[in-house]
Amino acid sequence: MTDRAAFDFDLFVIGGGSGGVRAARIAAAEGGAKVALAEELRMGGTCVIRGCVPKKLMVYAGAFPAQIEDARAYGWDVRAGGFDWPRFRSQLEAELTRLETAYRTTLANAGVQVFDTRATLSGAHQVTLADGRHISAKHILIATGGRPFVPDIAGAELAVTSNEMFHLDHLPRRALVVGGGYIACEFASLLQGLGVQVTLAYRGGAILRGFDAEARDHLAAALAARGIDMRLNADVAALSRSTAGITATLKSGGEITADLVLYATGRIPNVAGLGLDALGVQLGPRGQIIVDDYSQTAVPSIFAVGDVTDRINLTPVAIRQGHAFADTVFRGIPTKADHTNVASAVFTTPELGSVGLTEEQAAAQGRCDVYTASFRPMKTLFAGRGDRMLMKLIVDAATQRVLGCHIVGEGAGEMIQLAAIAVKMGATKADFDATVAVHPTVAEELVTLRKATRSIGPA
Ligand code: NDP
Repeated sequence: MTDRAAFDFDLFVIGGGSGGVRAARIAAAEGGAKVALAEELRMGGTCVIRGCVPKKLMVYAGAFPAQIEDARAYGWDVRAGGFDWPRFRSQLEAELTRLETAYRTTLANAGVQVFDTRATLSGAHQVTLADGRHISAKHILIATGGRPFVPDIAGAELAVTSNEMFHLDHLPRRALVVGGGYIACEFASLLQGLGVQVTLAYRGGAILRGFDAEARDHLAAALAARGIDMRLNADVAALSRSTAGITATLKSGGEITADLVLYATGRIPNVAGLGLDALGVQLGPRGQIIVDDYSQTAVPSIFAVGDVTDRINLTPVAIRQGHAFADTVFRGIPTKADHTNVASAVFTTPELGSVGLTEEQAAAQGRCDVYTASFRPMKTLFAGRGDRMLMKLIVDAATQRVLGCHIVGEGAGEMIQLAAIAVKMGATKADFDATVAVHPTVAEELVTLRKATRSIGPA
């Protein structure tokens, strides 16, 4: 009996987010596999429905007041009126519906059968749908992503998470954002842009742990300069409601009162109730599915990609992992997803773009030269703003390879994507220097950093 006759499908994907949809499409359209995909919520997953896409559209919305202010400095007779949140929200909803439809069309064109329901694992080759139907598959891919984590403090139910932020009835007058990671910083920044009075409370001494320290400090100062009340070393002990709003009591004793409290204290793998324990799929300490370089779990027929594996939790990485899985299993091209030199951007205003080693990582690794430039860009200088841009290259002293690039400022997300190509290719500082500047741009600073600011690491 052939495999195809033995199983209902060659591949059953649980989760219709970035990783799952890419894997399903490639397996079906390019691997010739018979594929099914189950999604219990909206097609598109976190990135499209409650993450990157709606967030970025809110970032754009929040950027206009400052742009209008700058326009006045440039001689335009314009002023910002009020922001119509319900109107923006319905336009946002229409855009998400369009994208969701596009995802469905992609899957349908590839011949993937979609089940709009929850699926759990009931065997090494079997899933069970919410209505009790059992479906067999030669391979099963778990791509269930992650979900917001809120610490178990008194009054935690008074807080919202990023999931709820796109559906608010109205924008709050005052918001408290708890956390210091990507989501906390991005929402603090975009809410401030939309006219909300924002306080960010982070338990540590510097936001965005893991990023380059100089870039973190530069960004924190810029966010404070834009009017966000940055409370560092501020750990929230409890939330309570009063007539004044929601009050957060800090472990240090102080209080912060706001109309909305957003908890952005990390995300955890979405594995609850999937039936993994009984099958022998191994989980790590955070509940993440342990996989090998080919995204295969301890059960040979079961694979996992994306945030549920907690490797690098970024959409493009999940897509690469899903694609590599499909190439390996259905196209006979063994492929490992490459997790080195993955660039990312934090979409605050200003943005932070980063690729490769931080100065701290580089110093621990060997002798390096650090090139930095901090300057006032022409555009905002003319408008009378005090904004400073930070550009930074970290160069291996022996090989002269550029090991890291960090940018804080307008357009950093776009710039870092291009710098990442050079870093990924192993470009040296001489390669950067040999590249003629595009003038006048802010990015030209990357190719005109002549003298090292400092040398770091063991001599
Ligand atoms: P992060 O892991 O980036 O940040 C979590 C933050 O919450 C950290 O500052 C952490 O502090 C803090 N925290 C954790 N537990 C507690 C606690 N019990 N009490 C108080 N504070 C706590 O998670 P996010 O939720 O911001 O984002 C999740 C992932 O999504 C990111 O890792 C990123 O990969 C991805 N993402 C990417 C984006 C992009 O590419 N632009 C945008 C948004 C998300 P500490 O540092 O002290 O541990």
